[in-house]
Amino acid sequence: MANYDPNNIFARILRGEIPCKKVYETQHALAFHDINPLAPVHVLVIPKGAYADFDHFTAAASAEEQADYTKAIGDTARLVGAAEGGYRLVSNCGVNANQEVPHLHMHIFGGRQLGRMLKREGE
Ligand code: AMP
Repeated sequence: MANYDPNNIFARILRGEIPCKKVYETQHALAFHDINPLAPVHVLVIPKGAYADFDHFTAAASAEEQADYTKAIGDTARLVGAAEGGYRLVSNCGVNANQEVPHLHMHIFGGRQLGRMLKREGE
């Protein structure tokens, strides 16, 4: 399980040290626009607790946090209009997934046809 770095950029957003373009907030989750969007809709949903990635969160967060976070992701997708045409959820977890920010975040991509999920090996 990953160690949590309290100085990562999303921890700083949660503490109000760095601004974000907030979309939605619950007791345990915060949703905001990605600073470098890869699709017409590109929103990040993060838990408010100190969890480095999905592995850490699902191993250590309470059932209440996990339920709140999961619902917040679906509610955010509806709120930004992504649910109508369909959307993709991505959460990069650890080294193999090239996770850049070590605080769990779910990407919501939508607003256009998103193509295939992954390149095949060797492509
Ligand atoms: P990942 O590779 O899954 O860790 O993705 C990190 C994401 O965080 C990238 O899509 C970045 O564009 C996004 N990001 C980094 N800094 C910020 C920030 N200050 N506000 C919003 N999104 C950010």
